[in-house]
Amino acid sequence: MTPILIATTNRGKLREIRQILRGLSLRLESLGNLATVPEPVETGQTFEENAQIKAHAYARATGRITVAEDSGLVIDALGGAPGIHSARYPGTTYADKFAGLHAALAAHPRPWTARYVCALALVHRGQLLFETTGAVEGEIWPEPRGGHGFGYDPIFYYPPYQLTFGEVDETRKLVVAHRGQAFLAFREWVVNGRLSETIQAVWLR
Ligand code: IMP
Repeated sequence: MTPILIATTNRGKLREIRQILRGLSLRLESLGNLATVPEPVETGQTFEENAQIKAHAYARATGRITVAEDSGLVIDALGGAPGIHSARYPGTTYADKFAGLHAALAAHPRPWTARYVCALALVHRGQLLFETTGAVEGEIWPEPRGGHGFGYDPIFYYPPYQLTFGEVDETRKLVVAHRGQAFLAFREWVVNGRLSETIQAVWLR
């Protein structure tokens, strides 16, 4: 079993990632067991840069093979906001954040097109070994619906389902959503033997 650190403290993300990587010969570790590792400052301008910053920082701090992701909600009418700042969008609760977004969107005609983006980066011994990005297109719904998922899911409407991600169970979300796509690409890469190959190459360097 290859140990891999999943560098996130977000429980919603961790639950999804564990589900996608289930059954692989990987021993998934989470930051929960490594409480002393300081959180890196996300100074990147893109999801990809921030995923790499996190993966490098946690790999350096722990010596572990580390996979990190950076994700968020991109709303076209708001010039891409909240984007890489999704976790820090003003509001103590997500209900507050929804209200803020709806107020900002009120002046714009619907549909309020949007996408979720997830960039993934795998780092070991200072080297970026794998990266990929997934995205899912949808729109912002004018009121929250459903209690599934996390974060912005109750206001993220997915037209093919005619439901918000708050109204579908985790598996139905994962098969179409941004994190599902990114981690599925990672899963394929591992299944094809590329992880062990690459790790060996890093050790031989
Ligand atoms: P990060 O920890 O900087 O990557 O912040 C990601 C933030 O984007 C989360 O805290 C959520 O607010 C939002 N987000 C990303 N993916 C999802 C999702 O699948 N559902 C709901 N919100 C998400």
